[in-house]
Amino acid sequence: MTRFPFEHSYGQLPDRFFAKVSPTPVAAPRMIRLNRALAADLGLDAAALDGPEGAAIFAGNQIPPEAEPIAIAYAGHQFGQFVPQLGDGRAILLGELIDREGHRRDIQLKGAGRTPFSRRGDGRAALGPVLREYLISEAMAALGVPTTRALAAVLTGEQVARETFLPGAVFTRVAASHIRVGTFQFFAARGDVEGVRALADHVITRHYPALAGEANPYLALLNAVIGAVAALVAQWMGLGFIHGVMNTDNMSVAGETIDYGPCAFMEAYDPETVFSSIDHGGRYAYNNQPLMAQWNLARLAETLIPLIDPDPQQALTLARAAIAGFDARFQEAYLTVMRKKFGFFTQQEEDAALIKNLFAAMARSGADFTLTFRALSEAAADPEQEEAVRRLFANAEDASAFLDAWRKRLEREEAEPGTRREAMRAVNPAYIPRNHRVEAVITAAVERDDFAPFEELLAVVTNPYADQPEMAKYREPAAPHERVTQTFCGT
Ligand code: AMP
Ligand code: MG
Repeated sequence: MTRFPFEHSYGQLPDRFFAKVSPTPVAAPRMIRLNRALAADLGLDAAALDGPEGAAIFAGNQIPPEAEPIAIAYAGHQFGQFVPQLGDGRAILLGELIDREGHRRDIQLKGAGRTPFSRRGDGRAALGPVLREYLISEAMAALGVPTTRALAAVLTGEQVARETFLPGAVFTRVAASHIRVGTFQFFAARGDVEGVRALADHVITRHYPALAGEANPYLALLNAVIGAVAALVAQWMGLGFIHGVMNTDNMSVAGETIDYGPCAFMEAYDPETVFSSIDHGGRYAYNNQPLMAQWNLARLAETLIPLIDPDPQQALTLARAAIAGFDARFQEAYLTVMRKKFGFFTQQEEDAALIKNLFAAMARSGADFTLTFRALSEAAADPEQEEAVRRLFANAEDASAFLDAWRKRLEREEAEPGTRREAMRAVNPAYIPRNHRVEAVITAAVERDDFAPFEELLAVVTNPYADQPEMAKYREPAAPHERVTQTFCGT
């Protein structure tokens, strides 16, 4: 049997941090896909796992001897409302593996059955959301965004009841950890300062070891998480990625994108874009993401107050200053991302205003986010390619104004056009998992048990910066009749 040399640093925290619970076996596990490269990175025997043995393990039917399965307790603000107890209602952590680079990574089965945190849920996952998470998290990884990863997807051979009966599946998620802002809130809400302290110490040791020697390690921890989240959200903004449910229980303190539910990439640029069917107020709209990240970080700060300073007033002052610092840190990360996308090698005073104007032109003309930057990359080396940029804008004047402003800015720099083109192509993808493609893949799998479209789309979006001319159809935005305007949570 394949060996999983699990460690259990989280399992060594006090009992109230989790519940010991085993996956509930399923009727007929069948491997849909094993991520062989990731399995190898984790030091696992990929070939041995890519079949019935792996299906049994990743369905939760066969528990590796070194696993110590637990469901983690957490709380969270959901759309602004505090829920004191959420927790892993359908996810079970088998343990941690140390990967080839020496990083500790959680191996978690999502959809593995009921836990003490399930509330009224069935503990299961439907095939559609499992495929969506697989595709989008692997695309994000290939795009260079910190994210949880997909190790495996298996069919359970059982049906799950949603609005209709759907094929059930289990998703194996790999994460730096599954510790969320909401995990801190779980203890803070109970007045359990020692719980918050034990969790903070664990997070420092695990994710931010350099902070252990700081004079005020808990304030340093807050600042480190603020920096990681600011950088993460800046990367989302650079790709037109909309998470969709930035609740505090869906925000990792390790700075990874986590909990892919109704997430999607926007096509025509519109800063107010919302996909999630339950996000009526646009709380988690594209443009609101930095603000919501800061709001979540303020909730984290509140939990750390008793640790930051014995004087509550002083602690509050320090925490407030850290949270206020998010703006500048985000702005800096955002400008770094955007300068690269537009091909600016230097920093100019007017960049922030210029970038804003360029986006305003894109918004007025509904220019496709991804195609615009890819076309711009080509135009950097060949002005004749500007025509391709122009075609993406509904309004010719907008397109000309956009291109003129961009050219003028480029003229302020010495750079070889070919060098600029290459630098831009390395950050501006040709391929993203477009929503209508993701939906089509899910339909083929759910309705026809056909996984070939999933495999094809996965191959395309995990090589996003290559031209792949034979796959050009995947570059195209949805035709009006194909457009997907709403996405749904994974539950
Ligand atoms: P999510 O919307 O996936 O972030 O989940 C929010 C909360 O609902 C978490 O505590 C989940 O564990 C829980 N949950 C979601 N779906 C289910 C389900 N099918 N069964 C039990 N709990 C669930
Ligand atoms: Mg969640």
